[in-house]
Amino acid sequence: MSSSTRVDVAIQGIRLLDAPVARRSGAGPSDDGHVLLDGVGAAIPLNPRSPYSVRGGKLLLDGADTGLGVEAVARPRFYDLTTADGVGYDKIARLHSANVLATTVVQTCARYDVDERCRFCAIEESLRQGSTIAVKQPAQLAEVAKAAVELDGVTQMVMTTGTSRGRDRGATHLARCVRAVREAVPDLPIQVQCEPPGDLASIQELYDAGARSIGIHVESLDDAARLRWMPGKGSVPMSEYRAAWAEAVRVFGWNQVSTYILVGLGEDPDELVAGCEELIAMGVYPFVVPYRPLDGTLAKDVDGIPAPPHADVYRVTSRVAALLRRAGMTGADQAAGCASCGACSALGACGEESA
Ligand code: SF4
Repeated sequence: MSSSTRVDVAIQGIRLLDAPVARRSGAGPSDDGHVLLDGVGAAIPLNPRSPYSVRGGKLLLDGADTGLGVEAVARPRFYDLTTADGVGYDKIARLHSANVLATTVVQTCARYDVDERCRFCAIEESLRQGSTIAVKQPAQLAEVAKAAVELDGVTQMVMTTGTSRGRDRGATHLARCVRAVREAVPDLPIQVQCEPPGDLASIQELYDAGARSIGIHVESLDDAARLRWMPGKGSVPMSEYRAAWAEAVRVFGWNQVSTYILVGLGEDPDELVAGCEELIAMGVYPFVVPYRPLDGTLAKDVDGIPAPPHADVYRVTSRVAALLRRAGMTGADQAAGCASCGACSALGACGEESA
C-alpha cells in the first residue's frame, strides 16, 4: 500500500455506509469505521464528503480504482450478549480493528471541566449518549474478555481510563481490572494507558497485576501546545512524564512503553521529530497519529480546527517511521496496545514495520 495513500485516507476518511465496527465519541480517536485495508487493520474516519469510497471490496479515489482492497470488520458476536444484571457487553468493551478488545475503565475525567479539558477529547460524550457505562467493574471486564476471546478470537486487550482525582490518577482501578481479566483469560496480553501516576510505584503494580505493555500518553512534547490544547493535563510537567516513561521502561522493558504524539497541534515538525528521537532512545515508542476534529470536542465544536494537511502528516510520520526502523523498534513487538494494533497510525504503512 502506498504510504501516502494510507496517510491521505487517515485524514480524508472514507465514504462508507456500513461499518459494523465503528466508534462514536469516547476516549482517544473515534468517529471512525474499522476496516482491513489490503488486509491490514485500519481505523478510518467515516466522512460522507471524502473522495474515497468503496465498491466491490475496492478502494476508489474520485471513482477510480486505487488497487487497494477494503473489507469492513464484521460485527463481533460478543456484542449480542448481556451481563446477568442486564448490561450489554458492548457497553463494557468494544472491538477495535479486527482483534483488539478495548475499554475505558472509568469513562469520566477529573479534567473534563471546560477550562481544563483536552480540546481533542470526547471521553464523556459516549457516556452522555448512553452507549457505555461510567465505571466498568473488574468482574464485568473479565466476563466480556472471556467471551470476546472465545467467540471472536480477540488476541489482545487495551484498557484506558479517564483521570481520577486521586493521587494514582486512575492506576489503582486499572490494576484491579487487569488482575480480574488475567484470572479469567490468563493468556490475553493487556496494555494499560494512564497519565503518569503520582506515585511511580503504581507502574510496578500495573505490571504485577498482569499488564505487559503501557501507554503513558503525552500527545505533544511542546509546552506551549500542551497548555493550549490540554490546559489541565498540560500542567503536569514534562519532568513527570520523563520520570514515568523511564520507570515504565525499567519495569515493562524496552519497547513495551508507548506514547501518543498527535500531529497537527501546531508543534514545529523538526522539534516534534527530534522529540520522538529522544523517546526512541529511552525505549519509548512514539505512536504518531494525525489530530482529527471529532464531534463533541472543543477543538471541533468551538474552535473549528481542521485536520492537518496531508503533506505535513506524511512528512512527520515518514521521518518517525525511519527513526523507528533505524532503532529496530516495531509496534508488532509490543505485547499489546495501540502500537501493536497500529490501526490509528500510518507508521506501519510508512515503513516502520520493515525494521
Ligand atoms: S490503535 Fe489503539 S485506539 Fe486505534 S484501533 Fe488500535 S487499539 Fe484502538
